[in-house]
Amino acid sequence: LRANFSIIQKETGFVNGLICVLHDITEQEKVDAERREFVANVSHELRTPLTTMRSYLEALADGAWQDAEIAPNFLDVTRTETERMIRLVNDLLQLSKMDSTDYKMNLEWVNFVDFYDRIIDRFEMSKEQNVIFKRKLPKQAIFVEIDEDKMTQVLYNIISNALKYSPEGGQVTFSIKEKEDRIIASISDQGVGIPKENIGRIFDRFYRVDKARARKLGGTGLGLAIAKEMVNAHGGDIWVTSAEGKGTRISFSLPYERSEEDEWS
Ligand code: ADP
Repeated sequence: LRANFSIIQKETGFVNGLICVLHDITEQEKVDAERREFVANVSHELRTPLTTMRSYLEALADGAWQDAEIAPNFLDVTRTETERMIRLVNDLLQLSKMDSTDYKMNLEWVNFVDFYDRIIDRFEMSKEQNVIFKRKLPKQAIFVEIDEDKMTQVLYNIISNALKYSPEGGQVTFSIKEKEDRIIASISDQGVGIPKENIGRIFDRFYRVDKARARKLGGTGLGLAIAKEMVNAHGGDIWVTSAEGKGTRISFSLPYERSEEDEWS
C-alpha cells in the first residue's frame, strides 16, 4: 500500500484538512517488478564475461597469439570466463526448475547424519586449501525425508562458500542438532564474515556483498538463493549468523518426526 498525503491550507496558513490517498500496489505489480529486475540482472551478468572475452579474443587476433607468454594467459582468462558463464546458466536453470509449478521432489527416507558425513568427506578429499574440518555429528542415525539431489546441492553451495571465504588454516565446523520437531544443520567458518547491513540480503538472487571479490572467487550470486528455495521446498528454513572479520554460520532446518523407538534408544 502506498499513501500520498496532501495538506489543505487556507491563505492565512491555517490548516483545515488533510487528504490521504491510498494506492494499492498489487501483488502482480510486485511480481512484475521483480521479474524485470531479474531479467536485467541476468543480462548484465552474462554481458560482463562476454565483453571481457571479446576484448581478450580481439587482442589475440590482433597478434597477441604470437606472444608465447601472453597468449596462454589470455586464453586462460577466456576459459575462466566461459566456465563462470556455464555455472551461471546452470544456476539459472536450477532456479527456473524450482520456479515452475510442476517440479517434482523425489523424497526418500535418508539417514541424514550419514548423508551429511559423506558430503563432508567429498569436500575434505578434494579441498585445495589448508582448512581444518571439524565435525560435531550425533552418533545415532537421524532419518529425515529428503530429495538427495537437492539436499546435496544445498550443502554443496553452503560448504563451497565456507571454503571460499575461509582464511589459510581456518576451521570449518559442521554440526547437526536435534530440536523437538526438526533437525538443524550448521556450517561455520572463520572467514571474512558479513557486515550487519548486508546480512538480510544474502539469500536474494544475485546479491553479493562484494561483487568484485565474489566474481574473482567465481561466484554467481545465486548459490544461497538456490539453497533457500530448496530448503523451503523441504519445509525447512535457512538463516545466517555472522560477525564481520570473525566468521559466518549458515544453518538450516528440516522437519523431523522423532519416532518412539528413538525416544527409548
Ligand atoms: P556467490 O556465488 O557470490 O558465493 P551466494 O548466493 O552463494 O553467491 O552468496 C551470496 C553472498 O553472500 C556472497 O557473495 C558473499 O558476499 C556472502 N557470503 C555467503 N557465504 C559467505 C561466507 N561463508 N562468508 C562470508 N560471506 C559469505
